[in-house]
Amino acid sequence: MKLELLIYAVPLLVIWTVWIVYAKLRTRKHLAVLEDNRRAGLSDPNTLHPVIDPAKCLGCGSCAKACPEKTILGIIDGKAALIEPSLCVGHGACATACPTNAISLVFGTATRGVDIPLLSQDFETTVPGIFIAGELGGMGLIKNAVEQGRQAIDSVAHRAKRIKADGEVLDVVIVGCGPAGISASLGAMERKLQFVTLDQATLGGTVAHFPRGKVVMTAPATLPIIGEVKFGEISKEKLLAFWDDVLKKTGLSPQFEEQVVAVSRIGDLFDVATSKGTYRTKAVLLAIGRRGTPRTLGVPGEEQAKVVYRLIDPEQYAGRRVLVVGGGDSALEAATSLAEQPGTTVTLSYRGSAFTRARAKNRDRMAAMKGSGKVTELLGSEVVEVRAADVVVAHDGNHLNIANDDVIVCAGGILPTQFLHDIGIEVETKFGTV
Ligand SMILES: Cc1cc2nc3c(=O)[nH]c(=O)nc-3n(C[C@H](O)[C@H](O)[C@H](O)COP(=O)(O)OP(=O)(O)OC[C@H]3O[C@@H](n4cnc5c(N)ncnc54)[C@H](O)[C@@H]3O)c2cc1C
Ligand code: SF4
Repeated sequence: MKLELLIYAVPLLVIWTVWIVYAKLRTRKHLAVLEDNRRAGLSDPNTLHPVIDPAKCLGCGSCAKACPEKTILGIIDGKAALIEPSLCVGHGACATACPTNAISLVFGTATRGVDIPLLSQDFETTVPGIFIAGELGGMGLIKNAVEQGRQAIDSVAHRAKRIKADGEVLDVVIVGCGPAGISASLGAMERKLQFVTLDQATLGGTVAHFPRGKVVMTAPATLPIIGEVKFGEISKEKLLAFWDDVLKKTGLSPQFEEQVVAVSRIGDLFDVATSKGTYRTKAVLLAIGRRGTPRTLGVPGEEQAKVVYRLIDPEQYAGRRVLVVGGGDSALEAATSLAEQPGTTVTLSYRGSAFTRARAKNRDRMAAMKGSGKVTELLGSEVVEVRAADVVVAHDGNHLNIANDDVIVCAGGILPTQFLHDIGIEVETKFGTV
């Protein structure tokens, strides 16, 4: 009897011990990621994100496995936890996968509210005639943006029919050429509306600008004129090529590098003021996402073409002298990936005295690059002027003249909240609610 007990008990004990050790190591690893993000000030999710009820969570890990981003959820002390909050893009696959309904998807956190504009079912804001589609309305993801862009243009078309106007008046100005703006523009084309699409940057929206390679589209979406699109997992480059192809096929011609700076109401109409002119229109569709407008330096010479606000392709900087400005993750990622290019000279200028707002892996990579002389780091410095062949940087009480071909400013973005406020659109601040 005793022997039989041992035959069963010993393997069980071994399995149990292995499991305990594994769970402890996993907790340690996931806690380290969470704490690193907290230290770097990256504990706030940008969009719809999961909140886990520990009383219901079994710690099975189905949520972490289901998440297309893979690294966002972890298991700490036997319960699921959002360990990479700022990387969550709101897929929501975790909530669907949870067998015990322990996950709710919410906006904002108890300490940091997220402003969500008030919208009617027709995507109209509290200012009649101004509509919102895509991530600005709260819901992230390409499929949601495409669907909302298409639906919002239906409401816009009804208004355009109803409002009578003389002279050169557009039916709608579509602001933003990300997935929502493209979809809305195709819808406007299909309905033969008089419209213009404007974007302060280029085609593709947020997707065009983020540094990683893969995009995941978990469900299909329907683009006007084109039909159903479903990519599953696709590289950023292929997705951008797809949008490009859509433009070629349909003849849609958005106006790029034209920023909308103000919208004012003129009776039933609106004047949309941009960096290049003004448009009078019956309706405005804001498809501007939530990432905002890049923060500028505000120094003489910044208007030169050599100053850009994001690094898209490090290879194009091979052999050049580049100044990167900023001290967060994107600045460190830019500086270190540029330093890997053959013959590139990289200087990083940051106002702060340490990279406290960057993740450990980027700080470590930066330290290694600095140690090997691949990047010159100027902490506690400020750019004073950008000139054709050099930049002037104030550092330690001196003005340094640094030979320069390109400047990449990674100083964060100005969120669209103030822009909405100036137009008179009401927003609701959500503190961890739906
Ligand atoms: C790192 C990261 C990874 C992601 N991964 C995925 C993923 O795998 N799958 C997925 O489905 N989603 C993903 N997303 C989310 C997805 O990118 C967004 O939800 C989607 O792009 C929103 O589309 P949008 O058209 O509403 O806004 P955006 O794509 O943000 O486009 C807004 C456009 O408006 C323009 N704009 C802003 N202000 C102005 C102005 N004042 N004047 C003129 N133009 C203006 C901008 O230049 C931009 O082109 C990810 C997001 C991030 C940040
Ligand atoms: S799927 Fe649900 S029960 Fe399983 S770990 Fe995630 S939150 Fe907990």
